[in-house]
Amino acid sequence: MDFHLTEDQEMIRDSGREFADRVLRPHAARLDAEEAFPLEAIQEAAESGFLGLTIPEEFGGAGLGSLHAAILLEELNAADASVGVTISVHMSLICSMLAKHGNQTQKEMYLPRLASGELLGAYCLTEPQAGSDAAAIRTSANKVDGGYLLNGTKAWITTGAHAGLFVVYAVTDPEAKKGYGISTFLVEASADGLTVGKKEAKLGIRASSTTEVLFEDVFVPEENLVGKPGGGFMIALDTLDGGRIGIGAQSVGIHRACLEASVKYSREREQFGVTIDRFQAIAFKLADMATELDASRLLVHRAAWLRDQGEPSTKACSMAKLYASMACNRAAQDAVQIHGGAGYTKEFPVERYYRDARITEIYEGATDVQRIVISRNL
Ligand SMILES: Cc1cc2nc3c(=O)[nH]c(=O)nc-3n(C[C@H](O)[C@H](O)[C@H](O)COP(=O)(O)OP(=O)(O)OC[C@H]3O[C@@H](n4cnc5c(N)ncnc54)[C@H](O)[C@@H]3O)c2cc1C
Repeated sequence: MDFHLTEDQEMIRDSGREFADRVLRPHAARLDAEEAFPLEAIQEAAESGFLGLTIPEEFGGAGLGSLHAAILLEELNAADASVGVTISVHMSLICSMLAKHGNQTQKEMYLPRLASGELLGAYCLTEPQAGSDAAAIRTSANKVDGGYLLNGTKAWITTGAHAGLFVVYAVTDPEAKKGYGISTFLVEASADGLTVGKKEAKLGIRASSTTEVLFEDVFVPEENLVGKPGGGFMIALDTLDGGRIGIGAQSVGIHRACLEASVKYSREREQFGVTIDRFQAIAFKLADMATELDASRLLVHRAAWLRDQGEPSTKACSMAKLYASMACNRAAQDAVQIHGGAGYTKEFPVERYYRDARITEIYEGATDVQRIVISRNL
């Protein structure tokens, strides 16, 4: 077993880190305060080839897998978790989904535009009454001549206000057993009847866009159905396995930022005549943060590796997301504590990390939903 990164994995890490230092870190606090979508940074990420990382080369991407994506996402999220989630959703829930489940025409039509950043992707599964119980969605897709008519409301959609392509899960067969009557559709933002609704005012990842998306008699041509009618929920679940690697990597990135800020601060701040890292209470917190960070990263990389090998990875993806998100929240809590009063202010980035960390335990399957998935797979 070799724990070293390969040469190209190191290259992805280094270019991600350089990009994060140059493009993301200087603006992250301001964009968070202004709740301003980081459009320029996302476009620059596209130019660096990051948006197409997991898209096959024949469709304009880099043709790399989940492990490379996790390595990149750690770097981006260590600087700005709003950019991190936007790119994670785009890569894992849209591009990888389409590359795996789309047909040749759909891939040719959309993947090059997703790789170049011409289109950003949004994943529309959740509805106001269907969160953890995602199979309870009600958005309908009724068969009409040449396609389907979509009606319904999607909630909490990341990149909702800026997406060019929506992957929408809707019920095509209301009589089918729960979860078996759902289908997957590709819907362009310009479609008549598609509107972006309420923008959520959030605790963290405030620069990311989170909105309702409404569908009122939206016509979707037959050729924009992904996979088979009724096969949509299986696609949603498979896609979420990959997404959970992304959120695991996001957790690792925020966690690492907490540790780095805490080591730095504790070596500078003096109390009782010594720097506070000399106190065992502080040093032990740092030791636990560092140990849990390594454990999280190893779980995330293992899950990504399994998925890239095409081996069963559902349990590993949920374990990685469960552990990494909880460890990240513990690290954020300790990071604020180590900074004392300073950590409670916007003068120091740990205040933002603390708010951003919270979401990692909620989206793409809340903590207890991961426990359900893991326990069912034991
Ligand atoms: C910022 C943000 C971005 C998001 N982005 C997207 C997106 O791009 N696309 C998308 O489709 N969705 C998105 N979501 C939705 C997200 O996936 C859901 O919020 C999440 O699945 C939880 O659903 P819920 O909020 O309805 O909570 P609920 O399902 O109501 O859960 C509330 C609580 O009950 C617990 N719970 C629920 N069921 C069980 C159970 N069976 N056993 C034990 N505990 C249970 C949960 O763990 C949670 O603690 C986003 C959400 C947020 C906040």
